[in-house]
Amino acid sequence: MKIKHVLLSLAAAMTVFSTSATAKDLTIGMSIDDLRLERWQKDRDIFVNKAESLGAKVFVQSANGNDQTQISQIENMINRGVDVLVIIPFNGEALSNVIAEAKREGIKVLAYDRLINNADLDFYVSFDNEKVGELQAQSLIKEKPEGNYFLMGGSPVDNNAKLFRKGQMKVLQPLIDGGKIKVVGDQWVDSWLAEKALQIMENALTANKNNIDAVVASNDATAGGAIQALSAQGLSGKVAISGQDADLAAIKRIVAGTQTMTVYKPITNLADKAAEISVQLGKGEKIDTNAELNNGLKNIPAYLLDPIAVNKDNIDETIIKDGFHSKEAVYQ
Ligand code: BGC
Repeated sequence: MKIKHVLLSLAAAMTVFSTSATAKDLTIGMSIDDLRLERWQKDRDIFVNKAESLGAKVFVQSANGNDQTQISQIENMINRGVDVLVIIPFNGEALSNVIAEAKREGIKVLAYDRLINNADLDFYVSFDNEKVGELQAQSLIKEKPEGNYFLMGGSPVDNNAKLFRKGQMKVLQPLIDGGKIKVVGDQWVDSWLAEKALQIMENALTANKNNIDAVVASNDATAGGAIQALSAQGLSGKVAISGQDADLAAIKRIVAGTQTMTVYKPITNLADKAAEISVQLGKGEKIDTNAELNNGLKNIPAYLLDPIAVNKDNIDETIIKDGFHSKEAVYQ
């Protein structure tokens, strides 16, 4: 009797142990292009918190803008036996092989924020990136309906950078064709680095004898670099310039009048959604989609969220209301 009891309670304990072990054992490898940028630190923190609250364990690594580093970090995660890979690619063209390797091991792969081309992805979660570009250009043409426009694209190997440009051109092309807007330069900023944007802007100002009315910058980091170059020529606040990410420094520039707008993408919604979907993928559950994108290899089921244009008139009702930044931090 006694032994039977012990065995029964042992069996019960094991069942409990094994159910919670299944949830706890779900491991996610999160491979981030570049934690040096403010926004990705937010993405990481929110994603990890949410995934952990759902019982998963997350390993995070940052490739700091390097293809080879990212590939070996992902290989490392595959060797550790993660169940799900969540990847923010540095180079959306360079990960097909390592993802094929992951798929051979039965690992599910989710592209986070940036699509990965020609790769066997299970899911893509992001914002509507073409809409981001449209919002940027719409704000600029309100401010400068005519004049010389300088196009500053993001990283040439980031699929999002191409989508932002596509959205920007949807708005600008009719005005270019109508002769209202003249494009006086077009360059892309490697790795989205502010210091590269600064150099590009300096050269553009020299080449155009400072005759630039608007800069179509694709995010806040590059806008920051460009604004430094504009300031040096006494032009900040006079030249309209877009951004994206609602970085604190950018919001302060909008308040100060040196940056026209930013695009606020509620990262909490993205990171929470991605964490939920990663856990569902890991458990083999069915997932809600609201979009589908072709990545060159196949149609990838996707979930896309809405971006929001922010200028000095709606900072309070958007980013401050959401607690993305505090009122004190913005206006101090
Ligand atoms: C993201 C932007 C970000 C940029 C640089 C893009 O793929 O969508 O939010 O500013 O990368 O990290």
